[in-house]
Amino acid sequence: MKKVIIIGSGFSSLASACYMAKAGFQVTVLEKNEQVGGRASLLEIDGFKFDMGPSWYWMPDIFERFFGDFGKKVSDHYSLEKLSPGYRVYFGKNDFIDISDRLEEIIETFEKIEKGSGKHLQDFMKKAKANYEIAMKDLVYNPGKSILELVSVETAKRLPLFVQNISETVRKNIKNPKLRSILEFPVLFLGAKPNNTPAFYNFMNHADFGMGTWYPKGGFNAVAKGMQKLAEELGVTFLVNEEVTEIRTEGNSAKAVITENGTFEADLIISGADYAHTETLLKSTEQNYTPDYWQKKTFAPSSFLYYVAFDRKVPQLQHHNLFFDTDFKRHAEEIYDTKTLPEKPLFYANFSSKTDADLCPEGKEVGFFLIPVAVDLKDSEEIHDRYFEIIMDRIEKNTGENLRDSVIVKKSFGVQDFKERYYSCRGNAYGLANTLLQTSVLRPSITNKKIKNLFYTGQLTVPGPGVPPALISGKVVTDYILKNKHQLF
Ligand SMILES: Cc1cc2nc3c(=O)[nH]c(=O)nc-3n(C[C@H](O)[C@H](O)[C@H](O)COP(=O)(O)OP(=O)(O)OC[C@H]3O[C@@H](n4cnc5c(N)ncnc54)[C@H](O)[C@@H]3O)c2cc1C
Repeated sequence: MKKVIIIGSGFSSLASACYMAKAGFQVTVLEKNEQVGGRASLLEIDGFKFDMGPSWYWMPDIFERFFGDFGKKVSDHYSLEKLSPGYRVYFGKNDFIDISDRLEEIIETFEKIEKGSGKHLQDFMKKAKANYEIAMKDLVYNPGKSILELVSVETAKRLPLFVQNISETVRKNIKNPKLRSILEFPVLFLGAKPNNTPAFYNFMNHADFGMGTWYPKGGFNAVAKGMQKLAEELGVTFLVNEEVTEIRTEGNSAKAVITENGTFEADLIISGADYAHTETLLKSTEQNYTPDYWQKKTFAPSSFLYYVAFDRKVPQLQHHNLFFDTDFKRHAEEIYDTKTLPEKPLFYANFSSKTDADLCPEGKEVGFFLIPVAVDLKDSEEIHDRYFEIIMDRIEKNTGENLRDSVIVKKSFGVQDFKERYYSCRGNAYGLANTLLQTSVLRPSITNKKIKNLFYTGQLTVPGPGVPPALISGKVVTDYILKNKHQLF
């Protein structure tokens, strides 16, 4: 049996581990941290459980397709609940919009706020759904090896959508600033400003309004655990606290990886660790890209995160809450252009325990707050604390909830923590943005140009940031390897 070493245990690594094991390889996953799941780690403090990273479960079809490839269903590994409302968006004091789990109701909400916008939304959503189907069928499962992968009758028809940006299409017909920001929100998951994201990516609006927001019981970490269990059933071995410090090569071939505990021989290596970090495990002459290359790229933002427990329930808020009560344009400029600490940041507040009672003791609540910030920012505990106060003030101002006095657990996580915990390039939270110039063949390559049996997967390569793309990335790299197996062994 040929030996495969997979570096890291995020979703892309977990997916590729399953596919490689199914194809008959002997697979070992080496993870530097104390647990499996990468960005979807679970933090437990005093009986309170926090998802450390992803919390929006979108595109349930991608997860179903993944488990389906192994003759399984999602429900064999974890249970899902559709959230209703999907989420709440605050625009000011007691001024919020709840996003229903049914498109017809969302259309009614739009129409009530801006006459005529319901019809525009309906048309927009029809196109979003068609784009979603094309993206999933023709685009995202490609290895990013040739521009021809992007060419089909359907994509040719949609060429203008790659030149226009999503802001233009949203703003053409919708005038109300609140509705505009709701429609521009989904592409933020792709890591760039809406006016720097191709209009074709409105397929994310189908993921949002069309398919809905789901919750995996136990949080996102339960998804990672479900995938780990499947991988173990397929024969994969997982080792945690096992940091790879070197990829050992001979000529144009990788032979082994080195950790503090020893040498792991390999016939093939797939790295799901942050791409730029994986490169540092090689000699500089073997790297695909120079450090300068990464400096020039548009990364998805970093974040200030707060994992907080409250000694009471929080009735005024929903499971997912977006605070869009300040100027997003300015905050976006601070993230992407000036790269400074935000003056009046937008933020996200999550209270998963409103859906999942097992996350904390009865009568209490767990919260998780996120402020997107620029990569490379210099942060500190003192800066985190300052921004936590801003969040508490804004929640109180907008909802009347004084949460500050009920805090019983609080832990923050920021740019420096992303670098230390995940070896994240420039402290990015979720990879390399999906701008036009960072799409498909223009993303970092899944193959190493000099080492024939070393491959890369994950959110810095194809197709891009987010959990569903990470699952796809794991499949893409494995399909590519299996197709080109004869050149490797
Ligand atoms: C705060 C936050 C919120 C998010 N919200 C959402 C959301 O709501 N919905 C969504 O779909 N996505 C969301 N995302 C994005 C999503 O979590 C990621 O895109 C996805 O999990 C990335 O998976 P990955 O496999 O590419 O990498 P990772 O999860 O980063 O996995 C890489 C792993 O490699 C390990 N590693 C690094 N170096 C080494 C080494 N030398 N040796 C061994 N192991 C190593 C790391 O420790 C890590 O475990 C969010 C991300 C963050 C951070």
